[in-house]
Amino acid sequence: VHPKQDAPPPSLPPSSISPSVAAPSSAAIDLKELIDQLRSRDIHTPILLRFTDLLRERLAEIASAFQTAITENDYQSNYCAVYPVKVNQQRHVVEEVLGFCKQHNFGIEAGSKPELLAVLALVTDNDTPIICNGFKDDAFIEAVILASKIGRNIIPVVEKLSELRLIIRCAKKHNVRPRIGVRVKLATTAASKWEDSGGMRSKFGLFISELLDAIEILRSENMLDCLQLLHSHIGSQLSDSAQIKRAVNELARVYCELHKSGASMQLLDVGGGFGVDYDGSQSTAHSSINYTPQEYANNIIFHIKEACDAAQVPHPTIISESGRAMVAYSSVLVFDILGWSGFKRFPLPEATPKNLEDLIKPVQTLYETFAEINTDNYIEYYHDAQMNRDEALSLFNLGYGSLQERGLAEKLFFGICSKVLTIVKTLPDMPEEFANLEAMLADTYFINGSVFQSLPDSWAIEQMFPIAPIHRLDQEPTCRGKLVDITCDSDGRIEKFIDATGTKDVLELHTLTDDPYYIAVFLVGAYQEILGDLHNLFGDTNAVHVSLDDNNQVSIDEVVEGDTVSEVLRYVQYEPEELRRNMRRIIEQSIKNKKLTVNEGKALRLFYEQGLAGTTYLNPDSNT
Ligand code: PLP
Repeated sequence: VHPKQDAPPPSLPPSSISPSVAAPSSAAIDLKELIDQLRSRDIHTPILLRFTDLLRERLAEIASAFQTAITENDYQSNYCAVYPVKVNQQRHVVEEVLGFCKQHNFGIEAGSKPELLAVLALVTDNDTPIICNGFKDDAFIEAVILASKIGRNIIPVVEKLSELRLIIRCAKKHNVRPRIGVRVKLATTAASKWEDSGGMRSKFGLFISELLDAIEILRSENMLDCLQLLHSHIGSQLSDSAQIKRAVNELARVYCELHKSGASMQLLDVGGGFGVDYDGSQSTAHSSINYTPQEYANNIIFHIKEACDAAQVPHPTIISESGRAMVAYSSVLVFDILGWSGFKRFPLPEATPKNLEDLIKPVQTLYETFAEINTDNYIEYYHDAQMNRDEALSLFNLGYGSLQERGLAEKLFFGICSKVLTIVKTLPDMPEEFANLEAMLADTYFINGSVFQSLPDSWAIEQMFPIAPIHRLDQEPTCRGKLVDITCDSDGRIEKFIDATGTKDVLELHTLTDDPYYIAVFLVGAYQEILGDLHNLFGDTNAVHVSLDDNNQVSIDEVVEGDTVSEVLRYVQYEPEELRRNMRRIIEQSIKNKKLTVNEGKALRLFYEQGLAGTTYLNPDSNT
């Protein structure tokens, strides 16, 4: 039996008027309608929408892919996904995931003390597997051992040898025989943004020689039967299925040797890394993957079975820690656009002005170029325009040109560029020199949000996310734009977008009208919320849990309000009550000094108090 390659997923049907999130039952949720409904309840953008049905569907898809692979390969054991809490620790998300995990006998993974403490209080049964990764101290290990003592199905995974000694000591102290796991450093690495997670230089896990020491330590303590799980993780977002095959094969070989050495091996934990096809290219690009869930499952089951059969070792229960693949799909972030700016917004220069002769020479020439540029001369005229724009700037800097003339040069130059763009777009092949013209002329759309808070991977590692307007999709998007956020940081921008043929520098957008304009960023359920930071004190956005009820009606199940200004100020050690008192004193003083009237003072105090209680984002309704 060879691992089966299943067919690529069918492409989406052509979009209708407004994009919708396809619910599993094939019903659909109209995003614009949903945002309008929320707005009428005073829940404003930016809003993170979490779709419960997509989460459920995704877990079911992973479970079903592994079940199919198990059946087809005649694999003699089972599969269990564990949800790594670090991917999204929000309580509402973890509770939903845990609920769906129970349906499939899946488990959960904690990688730090706070995560462990949260998980220990959330998992109230003795069946749900709890895997504990990450560096551990005495207190961490003691909590795990005591959880083991009360019957929890909990496994500490040894990341460094000293932890094993702590586990043994603590187990003896409490008279517990815990299930123990070890993480191993594999030689296989994966070419991904997270490739340092794997290989001999990886931060976590034991070298093979340390693994051999661990076996001897456990044997000498008469605890070798406690060693039951082998784990490795070679990185997140693994793009290429070939790397997964190599890593799983190496891991399975180590597993078989551990089994032969006398350990009571039962569980093989292949880690995370199951990626998401963010850019839709189904390729090895870093924002994509070249395999489907079925192929992923087939590869893992096939290679583990093959190694175990060859070594005559019983098939282990296979665990994967597939965080991203579980939760990325279920969240969509919707921003409103606050406004736009751009060269195309300038009114184009009128035909040759009466005072042409009075203007500096390069501006006169730019007027001529603007009037006369055409398909036959555009390359030469474009070069002339660049030179004349530079000369106008030099003359201005030397004191020979006025601000008006500099403004005219700017306007004329961009007018000429727009004409060149119109010409080159009609050509079968865009001359290379003009490839950046569209990006250079792009409008800037201001999103009411923070890239640092809501899309940190876009900023930090150039992760691509699908981005599109959520309405007016029956109207041609005549504008080309880039997105900038409202932080005072020029890095707070998105300038690369997904294109059918790769990436593009501009996004197709509509002209703004007096009505709100919304764009959505898809596939943001993994890592973005927790990695997001408070840059400029923009806090968590509102988050809304949405599902379809039995009649396929949209149900707003939970509204998690975003951070208030008071909350983010407290985070940086300001006490809002104290600020309020100070402000009151300042206002009273100003009234006394007759700098403010009583009514003005009252208005300022009201503004301040409402501001503290309000959202950290701008009010879209005050912005037309
Ligand atoms: N397990 C471990 C040990 C990890 O370090 C990570 C993340 O890098 C994961 C699981 C989750 O990986 P992913 O979200 O790519 O599935």
